[in-house]
Amino acid sequence: MLRSSAMCAQDLSFRERYGLHRVLEPAGALPQAAERLDSSPERRSAGELLIAVETLNVDSASMRQIASECHDDTAEVGRAILDIVGRRGKLQNPVTGSGGMLLGRVESIGSELAERFGLAPGDRVATLVSLTLTPLHLRAIRAVHLDTHQVDVEGTAVVFPSGAVARMPTDLPERLALAVLDVAGAAPQVERLVQGGGSVCILGAGGKSGLLVAAAAREGVGSSGIVIGVESLPVAADAARRVGSCDQVLSGDATDPLAIAEAALSAAGEPVRNAGGFDVVVSCVNVPGAELSAILMTRERGTVYFFSMATSFARAALGAEGISKDVDLMIGNGYCLQHAERSLALVRRQPGLLAELRERFA
Ligand code: NAP
Repeated sequence: MLRSSAMCAQDLSFRERYGLHRVLEPAGALPQAAERLDSSPERRSAGELLIAVETLNVDSASMRQIASECHDDTAEVGRAILDIVGRRGKLQNPVTGSGGMLLGRVESIGSELAERFGLAPGDRVATLVSLTLTPLHLRAIRAVHLDTHQVDVEGTAVVFPSGAVARMPTDLPERLALAVLDVAGAAPQVERLVQGGGSVCILGAGGKSGLLVAAAAREGVGSSGIVIGVESLPVAADAARRVGSCDQVLSGDATDPLAIAEAALSAAGEPVRNAGGFDVVVSCVNVPGAELSAILMTRERGTVYFFSMATSFARAALGAEGISKDVDLMIGNGYCLQHAERSLALVRRQPGLLAELRERFA
């Protein structure tokens, strides 16, 4: 049984609760915005949870950037990750600004927090807060898996009392569950945005968040609605077609606004074209430059949901203004209530989705 805990330690100081005591520079910054954290396991305070880390699930935009800089050489990728963590005390890619999350085993936990988390030493957990604010100390890189963006390591990590962790489910392969938990915020938030009979387009529909979002969108719009996927990687497009959540999956480039908007609207059919676009467009790509495609294909007063970490606020805001498009632009919050449980439940009730994720991650 999965258990997720957003802790609120009233009896701890503000500094300890939010991890300010771990910030080395700049003074006064919160850990996410900090340049450097003190990640030493020896200085664990009573409010913290110490995890023996086994696997890092590196954010897709970050892994893509590091891999490309390292020419897909796994040893070089490992060294680049060790270098970032050594310098910053956390895995926050200086180019993309993004992190990821991790899997490990509870090493030590104070009695008060053990009760709040419902955890004990030895329990297997995944962090539900970003690596961009998680103090991380790495002793070694064991293996780099470029295909799944997972990196097996030896080290320790710290979760602050304001953070959140999930006990790993026992009915799903751990690497699969880790991958789902990394993008757990996406599908539950899309569930809130879509309505029966509505229309949705997903950019990056064959990636892991894209597959989950498409499944949630299909459930939300029902058989009378329209779900169109766009995916540039042929094997991922085929996977999305196999899962079957989308009415059509287009092989195309989400960074080519006019071409892809025309193709998606034409695939969606007359009602969507007549409405001026989709009700909801979700960007799940891991590359920069998809903002305008998403905005162009959204109807007036529709919603664009940018889950992608490669999204530029300036390109989205100025892009919408530039074409006089009155749409709601939403930033994909990594957290929403019960996101871990809801995303795992979605996977469990969709056999096609589960089979595809097993194939990819298990
Ligand atoms: P993923 O599994 O790598 O999926 C991304 C998919 O988009 C891949 O299939 C990718 O193909 C495809 N793609 C790349 N360029 C494209 C293009 N020009 N046109 C169409 N499709 C394209 O990534 P993920 O783990 O689902 O993550 C998706 C995004 O969400 C990333 O930007 C990630 O950083 C972000 N994220 C956000 C949060 C949050 O809290 N908001 C949390 C986690 C992740 P290739 O394999 O060829 O690249």
